[in-house]
Amino acid sequence: MTAPLTNWARNVEYRPAVLVSPRSVEELRDALAGTTKAKVRGSGHSFNRIADTDGSLISLGAMPSAVEIDHGRRIARVPGGLRYGDVVREIDAAGFAVPNLASLPHISVAGAVATGTHGSGDRVSPLSGAVAAVELMTAGGELRTIRRGDDDFAGAVISLGALGVVVAVELDLVDTFRVAQTVFERVPVDAVLADLGAVTTLGYSTSIFTTWRNPDVFDQVWVKCRAGEASVLPGSLLGGTAATSPLHPLPGVSAEACTPQLGEPGPWFERLPHFLLEFTPSAGDELQSEYFVDRRDAPAALQALRGIADQIAPLLQIAETRTMAGEAQWLSPTLGADTVAFHFTWVADQRAVEALLPTVERALAPFGARPHWGKLFAMEGDELAALYPDAQRFRDLRERLDPRDVFANAFLERVGLA
Ligand SMILES: Cc1cc2nc3c(=O)[nH]c(=O)nc-3n(C[C@H](O)[C@H](O)[C@H](O)COP(=O)(O)OP(=O)(O)OC[C@H]3O[C@@H](n4cnc5c(N)ncnc54)[C@H](O)[C@@H]3O)c2cc1C
Repeated sequence: MTAPLTNWARNVEYRPAVLVSPRSVEELRDALAGTTKAKVRGSGHSFNRIADTDGSLISLGAMPSAVEIDHGRRIARVPGGLRYGDVVREIDAAGFAVPNLASLPHISVAGAVATGTHGSGDRVSPLSGAVAAVELMTAGGELRTIRRGDDDFAGAVISLGALGVVVAVELDLVDTFRVAQTVFERVPVDAVLADLGAVTTLGYSTSIFTTWRNPDVFDQVWVKCRAGEASVLPGSLLGGTAATSPLHPLPGVSAEACTPQLGEPGPWFERLPHFLLEFTPSAGDELQSEYFVDRRDAPAALQALRGIADQIAPLLQIAETRTMAGEAQWLSPTLGADTVAFHFTWVADQRAVEALLPTVERALAPFGARPHWGKLFAMEGDELAALYPDAQRFRDLRERLDPRDVFANAFLERVGLA
């Protein structure tokens, strides 16, 4: 008996009628012609049923995988089946970089941008912000390229996989850069709440980690500075001290899988993620949730989380606070405002985590918190759609591109978008 196909965390077992692995655009078109329901599975790193279908589950792993770099336009065309880790070295070798990366390079580019996946950085938007165009095959087999500037573009990048098969994405490139990361330990929460900006502006990208076991101290603050900025980093941060050996965000875990620290400069793609491509970060024994609020509300929202720290801590492996610049995608969790995101890596006890999520959401409700599309959350339907002023525009776009509801699934119905 073959093992069931699951997501990375193994908390979702996909239930397709058939698995499809086209080797060309023509085979993809044929596969879509013969199905009434379909979904693409990217790298399977989402924690909910967003990628599930009872029809055809499509893998793009056998499709042509050549990355095309246009030096003049400063664009990389990345096929829909590739992961960030598959493309970053080639982009770097051509003298370029992408502006930001998520915590790990193992995720597919198309799947990550489809869910609003992000890294951290006050002035850097989620990964969707670096997308210049998506090449989409609709359920009817038509190939459409939707570019920045087109009417549909603001609905087409963070698409939740609901508009069609993304055959390729075009990514904006910037000049390659080097980054050095320094980790500070035991930074007092009160000092951070009094001046969050002092922390988040310290580097190009910062992450604040806590187990919430001690509600007065953030265990670690990771500061990633572009080369040149690193030399001005102090040895202490608001009372916390710079670590003298490499650390893993999880207390007591070896830092072997983590990107180099201690201020040692290196290429952007080996510093912006927390984890190295060569290692599988943990074994999937975790669940994740994340909520986004307007950055102006960040201190009050963190204080609200601190108020329920005793309920969060028993189920928490680690929490991470990151910042992002706002963007215009209709379904972006950063739509309309610079944003802070509160991430939770939970223990792998889904029932207990799901029982806690309404408490977390109530604490963050005064700040209009939007959940990460690819992680676990409790809110649904109108409550969720109300957080997105352009939800109806997205529904209209979906109806136009997918009138037979081929890419709709139970997840999309649950979140009020189908
Ligand atoms: C260990 C770990 C660390 C993570 N770190 C971060 C982080 O730092 N920041 C963050 O924001 N998130 C993070 N995530 C969440 C993750 O980035 C998202 O869940 C993201 O969607 C993963 O991409 P994927 O390809 O695995 O998506 P999947 O789960 O495979 O798919 C997600 C959605 O995209 C659609 N899709 C995928 N490929 C295509 C395609 N080619 N065409 C059309 N639709 C497609 C699917 O149908 C589905 O709707 C993390 C997850 C894990 C497991």
